[in-house]
Amino acid sequence: MIKCFFNDLENVTIKNLRKAKRSIRAAVAWINFNHYKDVFDELLNKGVEVKIILNNDEVNRRYMNNIQYLNSRGAKIRLVSFDGIMHHKFCVIDEQICLFGSFNWTENASTRNIENLNICDEYKVVSDYLLEFKALWKLSKDDIRLLTRPIYCRKCGGAVINILFMKQEGDYQTRIDVLQQCDCAQNVIYTEYYDLSVYYNYIGLINRFDNEIAEIQENGNTIEYQRLVDQEDFYIANYLSNVRDNRMGLPIIHAVGVKTWKWLDKHDGELVYKIIWKERGTERYIEDEYEIFDEHTGL
Ligand SMILES: [Zn+2]
Repeated sequence: MIKCFFNDLENVTIKNLRKAKRSIRAAVAWINFNHYKDVFDELLNKGVEVKIILNNDEVNRRYMNNIQYLNSRGAKIRLVSFDGIMHHKFCVIDEQICLFGSFNWTENASTRNIENLNICDEYKVVSDYLLEFKALWKLSKDDIRLLTRPIYCRKCGGAVINILFMKQEGDYQTRIDVLQQCDCAQNVIYTEYYDLSVYYNYIGLINRFDNEIAEIQENGNTIEYQRLVDQEDFYIANYLSNVRDNRMGLPIIHAVGVKTWKWLDKHDGELVYKIIWKERGTERYIEDEYEIFDEHTGL
């Protein structure tokens, strides 16, 4: 359900923040900490984990004393230099509800401007905002720029992208190949072996959800079905987004793929690389699947 608010937005925000029991994840362009310091202090006293991303500019820096005080008490408030492009105003509370809208947490926004604030508890909305928060927490300004404006190949003009492919190798290992490709060339530029659990954690998620989804499909419960599909998408995206922490020595990994069998009709099919995760901002130039290449030459 979504509730919309147009008045008294600061009080609505503070009232909802106060209900937090476990976590706050907020990306808000501007916050006036003279108004919000007390509620965050209160939440830290209750043991709530507070993570906030703000623009690193002089408006927010005015509250540096309050920010440093809250951080010294365990909050993680980061001022990030996104060159002023971070205009978000959202906050996920306890991974259960999300506040979002036009409303910055400032004096002007709450007393003078015409603004809106929405509160939503729908799974898909909340999980999408959580993934967005995680992306902003892990990606730098340079990463975001690189994703928005990828490097283009001088020969073919296509975007040069790094795709991480994972598969089981032997009984004990996960093999990772990073394929760099544009429209005219494919090259394996990195190969590494990890514990089998890297691949099995992914397969385990798929199996767990697919079994449940198959059961629900038989019962014909469409609401529960959709919820499980959304939940599976979230768990997989959340797991695979950990590639941001290990980019195999590259500036950015654009996507993750696996080799999978694709049925063309009832009797015939082919092996393809299916993309199972796309980095934020790459939807424009990353396909959903790629042809299989030779693992030694990349061709
Ligand atoms: Zn090319």
